[in-house]
Amino acid sequence: MSGSRVVVAGGAGFLGSHLCERLLLDECEVVCVDNFLTGRPENVEALFDLGKISVHDRDITMNLQIPGPVDVVFHLASPASPIDYLRFPIQTLKAGSIGTLHTLNLAREKNARYILASTSEVYGDPLVHPQPESYWGNVNPIGLRSVYDEAKRFAESLTMAYRRTYGVSTSIVRIFNTYGPRMRRDDGRAVPTFVEQALSGKALTVAGDGSQTRSLCYVDDLMDGLIGLAASDIPGPINLGNPHEVSMLALAREIRDLAESSSSISFVVLPEDDPQVRQPDISLARDALGWSPSVSLQKGLRRTIAWFRETT
Ligand code: NAD
Repeated sequence: MSGSRVVVAGGAGFLGSHLCERLLLDECEVVCVDNFLTGRPENVEALFDLGKISVHDRDITMNLQIPGPVDVVFHLASPASPIDYLRFPIQTLKAGSIGTLHTLNLAREKNARYILASTSEVYGDPLVHPQPESYWGNVNPIGLRSVYDEAKRFAESLTMAYRRTYGVSTSIVRIFNTYGPRMRRDDGRAVPTFVEQALSGKALTVAGDGSQTRSLCYVDDLMDGLIGLAASDIPGPINLGNPHEVSMLALAREIRDLAESSSSISFVVLPEDDPQVRQPDISLARDALGWSPSVSLQKGLRRTIAWFRETT
């Protein structure tokens, strides 16, 4: 990847900013495109000293013209946390549909490698566990969460159509829950919510009875996978995530302990269509990419908690 010119749509978000950082450290030139709907300028401003990066305040659903050569296009631009996509339902559908069309057209025009950031949410509330890429999913197409799930399913379909019709070198990555520094404290996802509550001495709010599970991948591990995927010709879909599964109640307790907090735990109503279980089958990533996560949950949570403390 060294020396490549890479477009990162959604580069000012949580994952996008880590990707921009990793690409700069790998001596790529980075073109970050973001409309700051859910991302923050400070996420990328912190990277200016690391190398050659330009930041463009643009909505990819309007248009996407980038002068000059482009080697890789990453499409990460979409609200991603349930709070965000429920607040921005139409923007989420447009980012997955029109945004995917525009980023694919850019990759086609530039003869660039294309990586679509899809999600484990395409599996919905899964009836197969753990979830291999061959599983087609169990998604409510008209429920509240469908704005995100169906946008990603459409984005996957469009990406495959560009591959089959125009021969674009595409890849679809199904990202499972990822956490780490630079998550917004108020984005509603479990890790930042619990960390914020534990550090401020508030009760940790666990949805339902807390028995529902998630598999949490530390952001550095995910970046290794994304970079490896871009450098390969693997078409995907390919799962990237940490197969270590944890219940939400166990996660809340772990975060409370690591933060040395005396917060209590309270139980709140489970959101509509909340998946009961979630665990990636990463056999394909192991075999085809030689990738597997290496940061333990405890180590990743310690780093995340430390970042939240430092940035209070
Ligand atoms: P995020 O909200 O932090 O980042 C998304 C970025 O996209 C933000 O900077 C936002 O401003 C930008 N954006 C949204 N709509 C845009 C538009 N129309 N034009 C330009 N920019 C736009 O979310 P994230 O957690 O970093 O997720 C990044 C991508 O990875 C998303 O596509 C998401 O679906 C996918 N993903 C993330 C996770 C995870 O655990 N974080 C899991 C699965 C999939």
